Amino acid sequence: MWFRRDLRTVDNAALSHALRHHNITHCVFVFDENILRHLPRDDRRLDFIHSSLQELDATLRQHGGGLYVLRGDPMQLIPELAASLGCDAVYCNRDYEPYARERDNKVAALLQKQGCELRSFKDQVIFEQDEILTAQGRPYTVFTPYMRAWRKRFTPALAQAHPTPLQNALPLPPSSQGLPPLDALGFTAAPTQTLKVKSGRTGGEALLLDFAHRIHAYKASRDFPAIKGVSYLSAHLRFGTISVREAVSLAIGEQSEGAESWLNELIWREFYQQLLWHFPHVAEYSFKAEYRQLSFPGEDRWFDAWCQGNTGYPIVDAAMRQLNQSGFMHNRLRMIAASFLVKDLLLDWRRGEAYFAAKLMDFDLAANNGGWQWAASTGCDAQPYFRIFNPVSQSEKFDPEGKFIRRYVPELAALDNRAIHAPWQAKSLPAGFVLGRDYPQPIVDHAVQRELALTLFGKKQQGPA
Ligand SMILES: Cc1cc2nc3c(=O)[nH]c(=O)nc-3n(C[C@H](O)[C@H](O)[C@H](O)COP(=O)(O)OP(=O)(O)OC[C@H]3O[C@@H](n4cnc5c(N)ncnc54)[C@H](O)[C@@H]3O)c2cc1C
Repeated sequence: MWFRRDLRTVDNAALSHALRHHNITHCVFVFDENILRHLPRDDRRLDFIHSSLQELDATLRQHGGGLYVLRGDPMQLIPELAASLGCDAVYCNRDYEPYARERDNKVAALLQKQGCELRSFKDQVIFEQDEILTAQGRPYTVFTPYMRAWRKRFTPALAQAHPTPLQNALPLPPSSQGLPPLDALGFTAAPTQTLKVKSGRTGGEALLLDFAHRIHAYKASRDFPAIKGVSYLSAHLRFGTISVREAVSLAIGEQSEGAESWLNELIWREFYQQLLWHFPHVAEYSFKAEYRQLSFPGEDRWFDAWCQGNTGYPIVDAAMRQLNQSGFMHNRLRMIAASFLVKDLLLDWRRGEAYFAAKLMDFDLAANNGGWQWAASTGCDAQPYFRIFNPVSQSEKFDPEGKFIRRYVPELAALDNRAIHAPWQAKSLPAGFVLGRDYPQPIVDHAVQRELALTLFGKKQQGPA
């Protein structure tokens, strides 16, 4: 059983099949060098993965098993390990990202040569690949009809857990002393313990339980970053410490507006997964062909200010500092920060996408790319290009008392609830506070940039004159 983005023993499709069809199941995880060589050695996601693996290993050990943990190229390591253990099959759960598809095809071909089969299963979504298509047999490119079709096809049986009888023979890796520490694997722990989301299966279970008490209020509270209104489960869904079936079961097990709305978000997740599957080119360029040649005139120093949370727009800066400090950003803020990068700073959405990919604990290619292309108006079913978020009114609406801003931009803590959203417009500022010294002046003028963005995107919309 080859674990990848499914770091749990509970309700795991591939593990269930392996355990039920074989007398002996070995378990393995590979720190994939093809991915890791692009990341810093202290990437905080490695902490999350490592401690989740420790827990997974401990659970397997309770049942007489254990986890092989390797580092290198899985295209070499998996066939080698399968050969050395004399396996007749390798089980895994399907991953729909372009690199993963290529990797799995190669591993399958290599295994086949040695008389072994790669058996892959649907696990991280309720519906995959071609399971939900339009009446014409084409993939959906608009969310609402996709969501309706998803709900129509869904039956509670699809959210039932896959049984995983762990007592069915899980031999220990030979000479295994338990999971090697991060540094023995060539990494270092993240410099500060900024990880707010507790990792591992127990972390995921605790969050799910906590959210179960709040799900009824999700719809009303989900847009306010200062309130504990969302589930914070994204990293767990990303690494599979919680299964999508557990999440969907929570949503359908309760009759409330909040639960309905939360289920919709889980369907957005699947909408983007199927888009990436059908249109893998979105990972490289705009879904909409008319925006592929767009040339973005924004300045590099604006990009640096955005990354550091020093744009002079408090809500954008608070959002970026939350990301830098914790690896998380609230969904409303992701939309505001992304819109600001593209429509105010006139920078290529792919630069923002890459920055989020490097920093987010929950980074997921399909969701991140989908979110960025939505905000940049380049994606399918995206925000229309002429609807441009005003960062000040968004801030007034979704952080009315400036609580979130004060948390992440403490230099603005003394500003009153009106001034905190746009200090440069304030009639008076606290004694001793100097704008431009204690906090940056806005690096661009929203009204001016908005017009420029409309012209930039509008020209493309009309096509060449
Ligand atoms: C620019 C941008 C980039 C994003 N990048 C990512 C990313 O890399 N990884 C990621 O998981 N989500 C991403 N999202 C979607 C969303 O912001 C996060 O899933 C959400 O903020 C995570 O918090 P939560 O778990 O409390 O979400 P909740 O509101 O509790 O939602 C529950 C779950 O539904 C899924 N979900 C919610 N909203 C979306 C959405 N719009 N698209 C896809 N799935 C969704 C997530 O798995 C989430 O955990 C992005 C959104 C935008 C606008």
